[in-house]
Amino acid sequence: MAQAGWSVLLIEGAQVPGGGVRSAELTLPGFIHDICSSVYPLTVCSPFFRNLSLEKYGLEMVFPQAALAHPFDDGTAAILHRSLEETEATLGRDGDNYRKLIAGFIPRWKDLLDDALAPIGFPRHPFFFAGFGRQAIRSARGIAYAYFRTEHARTFFGGMAAHSLLPLEKLTTAGAGMMLAILGHAVGWPFVRGGAQQLTNALLQLFRSLGGQFVTGCFVESLDQLPPARVVLLDVTPRQLLKIAGDRLPQSYQRKLSRFRYGMGVFKLDWALHHPIPWRASECAQAGTVHLSGTLDEICDSERSSWEGKACERPFVLLSQASLFDSTRAPAGKHTAWAYCHVPNGHNGDMTGAIENQIERFAPGFRECIAARSAMSPADLERRNPNLVGGDIGGGAAMLSQLFLRPTASLYRTPLKGVYLCSSSTPPIAGVHGMCGYFAAETALKRS
Ligand SMILES: Cc1cc2nc3c(=O)[nH]c(=O)nc-3n(C[C@H](O)[C@H](O)[C@H](O)COP(=O)(O)OP(=O)(O)OC[C@H]3O[C@@H](n4cnc5c(N)ncnc54)[C@H](O)[C@@H]3O)c2cc1C
Repeated sequence: MAQAGWSVLLIEGAQVPGGGVRSAELTLPGFIHDICSSVYPLTVCSPFFRNLSLEKYGLEMVFPQAALAHPFDDGTAAILHRSLEETEATLGRDGDNYRKLIAGFIPRWKDLLDDALAPIGFPRHPFFFAGFGRQAIRSARGIAYAYFRTEHARTFFGGMAAHSLLPLEKLTTAGAGMMLAILGHAVGWPFVRGGAQQLTNALLQLFRSLGGQFVTGCFVESLDQLPPARVVLLDVTPRQLLKIAGDRLPQSYQRKLSRFRYGMGVFKLDWALHHPIPWRASECAQAGTVHLSGTLDEICDSERSSWEGKACERPFVLLSQASLFDSTRAPAGKHTAWAYCHVPNGHNGDMTGAIENQIERFAPGFRECIAARSAMSPADLERRNPNLVGGDIGGGAAMLSQLFLRPTASLYRTPLKGVYLCSSSTPPIAGVHGMCGYFAAETALKRS
């Protein structure tokens, strides 16, 4: 909106701006932890961010040698390298099958994202996108069995697909796995040097340079609190919109919003470490992100049970180890790590032991490296940011019925004149890519 010449006031409820893109010393002084998001393939490939030149405002992305490692109980690991050939070499007999699934999309990743990171409509590259969609619409488990013969390759693919925050038997979960693999080769899975907050800081500098103003620590309980404006864009999920707009919304729209389904929650740990994580498969130290589970069935059980409301004793764990590639994150010689597992929405159990057991399984001696830890349950996450309803980091479940028409068929528009939704509860999907806000702003500009 500011780029279009409008005068914009950004109102943030928290004391520190950034929402899902913040960092802080959560454990010990000198150890910088990303409170929410940390790994940014969607940011560097996003059509919105690609045009912002945030490096002018101090943003520096750090690209680990490999995007992802998935270690196995036999001491080996599958690795997502930038090079397709090197990745194939870690997948043994399934290297060729991986190539068949992914290779055709890598050179045209920008075309793919034009359509994948957009609300539903006629694709800009219809034949190419249909080729992707034919496989992406399937379940991750279905694709894993259709393409791969080895357990290792199936598990490797399943781990990437689990970023969909859905059981891997559900339609469209293959799409998340394919997209993250393609982006691993096309752009990598980078971190922000110095922590996620630096990305927010760079965005705010750009915003200020365009004349934007912002206030923090101003939590909006009702639309009546807002100063007069031609357009209001609300970065909230449906449950909050119901509270903020209250009875001004027609009953039928209120009913639709109240039927919106939230997804699984997250239980997150951050550690200050005396040493790097002692992976049994030493090549895991080349990767920024590490996925932890022994088999595809294990991931499927973990995701399905969380979806169905039961916490899993051996959860699928997503871990990132930014300080191996960014020495500004910890005092000299020390390290940080960040990990979470999916849990039932609003789950109030402690998953610390279950997550650390999974790390020990693939990195014996991990617990001896811990200098301090911070744990955040779904309720803690929601307290820090009310958009994380029940710990749901996706702004609502992204199953087929809520993937394209989010949160209702009117997408960004609400029945209230000049009031729009711009959060990850709108298309295309959760993640730090800015496209939900971009399309909300575009809709608002066109209509006014
Ligand atoms: C633990 C975790 C790990 C994640 N990892 C990744 C990752 O590695 N990569 C990735 O791409 N994505 C990741 N995500 C998802 C990503 O952070 C979100 O998809 C993204 O931040 C959503 O952006 P948003 O603008 O919709 O909401 P948010 O980033 O949540 O921002 C919403 C803002 O609105 C403010 N707000 C809400 N209600 C009010 C109110 N009533 N008044 C005033 N202010 C209000 C909040 O304080 C917040 O600052 C992760 C999320 C979490 C929680």
